[in-house]
Amino acid sequence: MAGRQSLRADCGNCFALCCTAFGFSRSADFPIDKPAGTPCSNLASDFSCTIHDSLGPRGFRGCTVFDCFGAGQYVSQRLYAGKSWLENPETKAEMFSAFAAARQLHEMLWYLAEAQARTFDPDASDRVTRLSDTIGQAVGGELTDLLELNVQDLHSQVRSTLIDVSLEVRASYLAAGDDHLDAALKPGADLMGQNLRSRRLCGADLRGAYLIASDLRGSDLSGADLLGADLRDARLDGADLSQSLFLTQPHVNAARGTLLTLLPADLERPSHWQNG
Ligand code: SF4
Repeated sequence: MAGRQSLRADCGNCFALCCTAFGFSRSADFPIDKPAGTPCSNLASDFSCTIHDSLGPRGFRGCTVFDCFGAGQYVSQRLYAGKSWLENPETKAEMFSAFAAARQLHEMLWYLAEAQARTFDPDASDRVTRLSDTIGQAVGGELTDLLELNVQDLHSQVRSTLIDVSLEVRASYLAAGDDHLDAALKPGADLMGQNLRSRRLCGADLRGAYLIASDLRGSDLSGADLLGADLRDARLDGADLSQSLFLTQPHVNAARGTLLTLLPADLERPSHWQNG
């Protein structure tokens, strides 16, 4: 998809910003508490993770599903010219703030690229272009521009644009009189552990839905809006997500699929997915 090349994480060119800037709490995803702005105890001085090959078994599952959308290398290399917070500790707080803002902006660019590719509405397309240009200028400018940007305002504009594109795309999957979607399939729905196996979920609005450990095996999610949906441990064996809306790599990494799960071309099949 056009415009997404620079929105992929390149950890080798990042100062482990996700392992330092953000905090996490002891939970199903992390075995310890870590305050924001402090290095993780598993971080090596060369910014590598000392338990990279055993994150899941060691209880750091949250690390395996995080994606910075390329913000890490952007901040490390483009904004700070390869000078890390270890070399220049005085830049630490500012660098972490820049990373938090850039991560949100890069994620918005990821979604806008998809919106642009999916919409046939000229007005929506213009809005997407304007927003993409605004964000593109912000991340292409100076550090101060980024830090002074009203990210929340941009986020609201992007959100309403994505909802409009979602409505348009989903409508194309919902023929008049077609009642394949029941009322439970709605934004923010609690569908944890639900049996949704072999269902036709085309055009469903599952934005922000809790699909944790749900059974979606063999289901068709073409045109289903999955923005912000929680797919942790969802079974995706044989499911078709190739035309799902706003699916991201963290979604996929958190779910359980196989070689028979169909994914959008932009997303990678996690190495832990086995042939079912
Ligand atoms: S466990 Fe490894 S990947 Fe996770 S935050 Fe710590 S250093 Fe980073």
